[in-house]
Amino acid sequence: MSLGAFERSIVWFRRDLRLKDHRALFEATHASKNVLPIFIIDENIVGKLPKNDRRITFIQKSLDEVAAGLEKQGSRLLVLSGDPVEVIPALVKKLKIEGVFTANDYEPYAKKRDAEVAKILEAQGVSFLTFKDQVIFERREILNGSDEPYRVFTPYSNNWLKKFEANKTLHLKEYQPKMGSLWDSSEIKEKSKSFWDLGFEPQELVVEPGEKAAHKALKKFTDLVSHYHELRDFPAKSGTSRISMHLRFGTISIRELMRFGVENLSVGTKVWIKELIWREFYQMILDQYPHVVNGCFKKDCDQIKWTGKKEHFQAWVDGMTGYPIIDAAMREFKLTGWMHNRLRMVVAMFLTKDLLIDWRMGEKYFAEQLLDFDLASNNGGWQWSSSTGCDAQPYFRVMNPISQSERFDAEGEYIRKSVPELKKLSAKKIHWPHEDGLFASAPENYPAPIVDHGEQRLKAIALFKK
Ligand SMILES: Cc1cc2nc3c(=O)[nH]c(=O)nc-3n(C[C@H](O)[C@H](O)[C@H](O)COP(=O)(O)OP(=O)(O)OC[C@H]3O[C@@H](n4cnc5c(N)ncnc54)[C@H](O)[C@@H]3O)c2cc1C
Repeated sequence: MSLGAFERSIVWFRRDLRLKDHRALFEATHASKNVLPIFIIDENIVGKLPKNDRRITFIQKSLDEVAAGLEKQGSRLLVLSGDPVEVIPALVKKLKIEGVFTANDYEPYAKKRDAEVAKILEAQGVSFLTFKDQVIFERREILNGSDEPYRVFTPYSNNWLKKFEANKTLHLKEYQPKMGSLWDSSEIKEKSKSFWDLGFEPQELVVEPGEKAAHKALKKFTDLVSHYHELRDFPAKSGTSRISMHLRFGTISIRELMRFGVENLSVGTKVWIKELIWREFYQMILDQYPHVVNGCFKKDCDQIKWTGKKEHFQAWVDGMTGYPIIDAAMREFKLTGWMHNRLRMVVAMFLTKDLLIDWRMGEKYFAEQLLDFDLASNNGGWQWSSSTGCDAQPYFRVMNPISQSERFDAEGEYIRKSVPELKKLSAKKIHWPHEDGLFASAPENYPAPIVDHGEQRLKAIALFKK
């Protein structure tokens, strides 16, 4: 694309709420004379959310930071609301736009929406240009020996690393926008909207929003990353980056994280990079095997008749199962929207293999609550834990919530924070405060276990075998 190919363009911000290393903004500002960044509050998505959804606060505050950054450059962020399929063509017509730039998205709804927008714009004679931004490798860039997308993580990851090493400079490229091409704000008369105008209410967050906060979080992680492999599984220790929400909304770029990884290389960093590759693996799975949105990756698992009870689901949601590590994780989750990775695996396996409840119910609850909710990773995590996914845990592997608790929260430090009833129990008792069927040593206000792990484990295995 030659410089100045377009007189007027827009950049449609979606899950890339930053100004640094922004691929679509880079491409637009290098190919156009006047670039207007826009964000659309997509009513098809936010219309279904409660007015106190925490993620909206993260998005709005991150948008405020983007807007302030653009204002410093004499430009602005235009925030509109409605159905993008109608909003974009109308804006294009009004402002005589020649090009619309945006980043690729791999979720089924987004793919359908973008295809519709592209079709309408084509009829208007306007270019719709989309770019890879949220991953290092997308779609069918990493294929197996038969030119098929992978179904197993390890060979995918090995190939990913090989391809990355082979062209590192390109994959680490920083896409710095040319701010001089931003549209002068005095020429744009349209009024911006905010989520608050639509009735959403600001919420307290345990993760600070915005691009600056994302960089701060990464800086803080510099001293920890070399110990990541030793600390990452312990919920009471701050051994992980807590960058997932920033990645979800693009307040930091994946290339920035990979540059950080390469500059701080160690045993711990390599393990951490593997986690970033899991994220890309699940993005690829969602893109290439979209049936996972509603069904099991392994299609025969759709025949499983989950026999769990409604009241057990509610006890799980409320953190009232009588299993301290499960209850601590679920209570913190309800209160904050955050859950440590080890606990996500333990509670997901408990719901599916101990309570015998369909993974889709847990996935849906997580989708409503998780600060960092991402369809690909959430679906992947649930299908992995419930043994219905690609490269998932074998069905007969059922985590024991008591031994997980003893191993990863040995002192009971994490449990004590969220389950006040058990605060006074010793490190020995806290993981299983009940006594041989009598539950006598648990404080009165703490629930008796709703199921017996040993029995349920056998039932789960039988369910899968059938
Ligand atoms: C049932 C279940 C549901 C999950 N739902 C989500 C979700 O909706 N959104 C989400 O971002 N992650 C999800 N995960 C993955 C993981 O739990 C979080 O990414 C992680 O806890 C975020 O913490 P962190 O940023 O400190 O991660 P770190 O340990 O510092 O890892 C760095 C980054 O790697 C990625 N990552 C790490 N672990 C995984 C993983 N297992 N799968 C995919 N990506 C990973 C994340 O982007 C993370 O921010 C889920 C896992 C499970 C088991």
